[in-house]
Amino acid sequence: MQKIWLSSPHMGGTEIDYIQEAFNSNWVAPLGPNVNGFESDLESYLGAPQQVAALSSGTAALHLGLILLGIQPGDFVICQSMTFSASANPIAYLGATPVFIDSESTTWNLCPVALEASIVDLTSKGTKPKAIIAVHLYGMPFQADEILAISEKYNIPVLEDSAEALGSIYKGKKCGTLGTIGILSFNGNKIITTSGGGALTTSNPALKEKAVFLATQARDAAPHYQHSEIGYNYRMSNICAGIGRGQMEVLDAHIALRRKAHQFYMDFFKDMADVEILHEPTADFYSNHWLSAIVLSSYEQREALRIAFETVNIETRPLWKPMHLQPVFENCPYYGEKVAEELFQKGLCLPSGSNLSDEDFERITNVLVTFFKK
Ligand SMILES: *Cc1c(COP(=O)(O)O)cnc(C)c1O
Repeated sequence: MQKIWLSSPHMGGTEIDYIQEAFNSNWVAPLGPNVNGFESDLESYLGAPQQVAALSSGTAALHLGLILLGIQPGDFVICQSMTFSASANPIAYLGATPVFIDSESTTWNLCPVALEASIVDLTSKGTKPKAIIAVHLYGMPFQADEILAISEKYNIPVLEDSAEALGSIYKGKKCGTLGTIGILSFNGNKIITTSGGGALTTSNPALKEKAVFLATQARDAAPHYQHSEIGYNYRMSNICAGIGRGQMEVLDAHIALRRKAHQFYMDFFKDMADVEILHEPTADFYSNHWLSAIVLSSYEQREALRIAFETVNIETRPLWKPMHLQPVFENCPYYGEKVAEELFQKGLCLPSGSNLSDEDFERITNVLVTFFKK
């Protein structure tokens, strides 16, 4: 039986044409026309005045984002606890301290109440946080009105981790354009892929320019190699960007297919009170439904379902393990209750790719029907 993946790369077909063009013109070296083309494709997709810098990964984009926000060794940076470790690692790269915040139970993202409590408490101790990393998990927009209001009230910028949310929308605004700086990921399992890559987005042209400068070894304007700042090798290659240009042509079609997969699970679980499925709470939220995720009634039931899928070669995965429970971050401050922890105990991501076939859905249905005796 062929493996059904949680989320696997899905090429549209024209990616190879952009790569061929790069070979034909010998733009195999980094940078080149595909990088500029991919950036302008993303800029039109996100809408004016957003500016995009194509980078080697989403993690690199987060690292540069924190540098652009002026994060220094010893600073405190707030980060949603339930997320992929790449949201938090760049805080540690800079010698700053991550402060982890619980989720709220509607979007599973940053809890505004715990966020504000942490800011008040840290400020009273003389360690006012310097940035807030908020994540749109599984493509679901975070409670942006509440979080941006807190950001404004305390004058702390939001670094918007939109790695999983390209194409998601909050109140008419595309995710990736809500914070002072946003980041995207084009890793192999994301909604579109460049085989590996990411981007930094901002409406501030000076910040984009600085991001590109830092990402290309911080070279000063001189005929020789001259440097006044520490630089990084974080730019996207012209080959990877070619894949990205082809993927942009099918992005909306692939979002429609992910949303269809999500509707399939919504229909299956609709009258099952003991299974919760992550869904758009109101018309203000539009998710690309990168991954469809459910919460079962116990850890044991979650594991039993995961293993039932695994037995027939279908990949599923527990939700992200919160960062405050990770051994590497065990000494970092945490604010909140046990929302993220419980989601981690009982939650499971289901196959959600845009390339699932009717036969794949049949195999998935069979497992669910047998398991829930429906
Ligand atoms: C994938 C991901 C990243 C990192 O992106 P890479 O391109 O893999 O470096 C960061 N944050 C979240 C939430 C992600 O899912």
